[in-house]
Amino acid sequence: MKFLALGDTDGIGASCHFLDLNGSGIALDAGTDPQRDGPDSLPRFDWVGDRADSYVDHTLVTHAHHDHMGSLPVLVRRFPHAMAHMTDATKKLLDILLPASARLQEKRRDRGETTHEPLFTEDELEALHHLYLTHDLGQGFDLTGPKGQSSVTGRFFSAGHILGSAGVELQFEEWGRDRRVFYTSDTNMQAQTIIPGGEYPDSTDVLILESTQGAEPEAAATSRPEERDRFRKTLSQVLARGGTALIPVFVMGRAQEILVLLGQLKREGAIPADVPIYTAGSMRAIAGVYDDTRNTTPRVDASDEVYAVDQERVPYESEAKREILEGPGIMVVSSGMMIEPTLSNVLARRMVENEDDAVLLVGHPAEGTPARRLQDAAVEGDGAPVMLADGHGPQPVYCTVERFRFSGHSDRRELLSLVERMTPETVLLIHGDPDAKDWMAEHIKEAHPETEVHRPDWGSVLEV
Ligand SMILES: [Zn+2]
Ligand SMILES: [Zn+2]
Repeated sequence: MKFLALGDTDGIGASCHFLDLNGSGIALDAGTDPQRDGPDSLPRFDWVGDRADSYVDHTLVTHAHHDHMGSLPVLVRRFPHAMAHMTDATKKLLDILLPASARLQEKRRDRGETTHEPLFTEDELEALHHLYLTHDLGQGFDLTGPKGQSSVTGRFFSAGHILGSAGVELQFEEWGRDRRVFYTSDTNMQAQTIIPGGEYPDSTDVLILESTQGAEPEAAATSRPEERDRFRKTLSQVLARGGTALIPVFVMGRAQEILVLLGQLKREGAIPADVPIYTAGSMRAIAGVYDDTRNTTPRVDASDEVYAVDQERVPYESEAKREILEGPGIMVVSSGMMIEPTLSNVLARRMVENEDDAVLLVGHPAEGTPARRLQDAAVEGDGAPVMLADGHGPQPVYCTVERFRFSGHSDRRELLSLVERMTPETVLLIHGDPDAKDWMAEHIKEAHPETEVHRPDWGSVLEV
């Protein structure tokens, strides 16, 4: 088999990996790079022909995060015969998120925030619907291309990352023997609040393994119940002193997990039942999909509903915002990295100087983002300066700033135990910073010297 990374393999760029399985061309995911804009954010689809001398017959979309699905409309425009396979929940989420992305790209162009034309339009998306095929977890489906010399069968397994997320098993024949490839995509083998841990097959020949948390020793040293407990204590202290807690979240996945957790804390009496929870934007539509699929997708507790947690809209007007910020209250708003000019950035600027308030970080604040700058300032000590947006500040930080590890990704020990359990001949490390992949490669080789470990380069064809 041939493997070719079309999206950047270092860090969390556009996920898109091309496989030639004995003549059938398969793209694993079709993402966009969240740090880039316009055509630069796309995977290099041209390399499928130029470098692999092949064609995309099928695409598998593992989950509805933009770094895995944001370029799907561009891929199917370029390879008009390619079918796109996904779970039913992922399709429902794409039906909301891709049109929203088209509208946002248009808005940014109209406002002069980007010089690039939108990568696709809402009208174009309607025409793509017949290309989307959905499959249940565990069900086999055919992925053989017209030039395939043997059949290829795909199968989805629950990845435990967000609603609808799946790892993919590909079974095919090569040189007269059966081979299996397993692509973890983004994975979490432990239960979150809504989504239970992933369930993967017991073995594979080639494992394409994510390594997001490879350089995070603390993630492996804390447990979710401990983090939940620390979150409960901090939040109840902030509310008891009349403060407002800002929880910056990713709209897709983390927001719904946090809302259900807040609902549980209210039911347990850990925080007052009448304290208002404010939300905004498209996370409400996504919550609807979470709730609609609660009896048909893996759940920790199918009776938990995101909409059952009372929510109020964050008001648009500045004066009304000021009123609700008097507290106590909880704001669950995007973006998770507090990028300007998102609501979490706007609200944080109004809150950081107030010692009663708190910013509770529930994701991994990436280097160079306002969320990371705030976290670093808080570590420096009371009153340390932070720049949250150009032309504002620096501001002294007096509010509580704490980070909680509610990751949607497996920690590095868990990733190693996957290798241990699935006993692959070959591991391909993807979706992680260079130091994360260093740690993973070193530890896999140490425990399994017979396993071949590759760190595929962006753009080079690898024969496995
Ligand atoms: Zn993801
Ligand atoms: Zn990802």
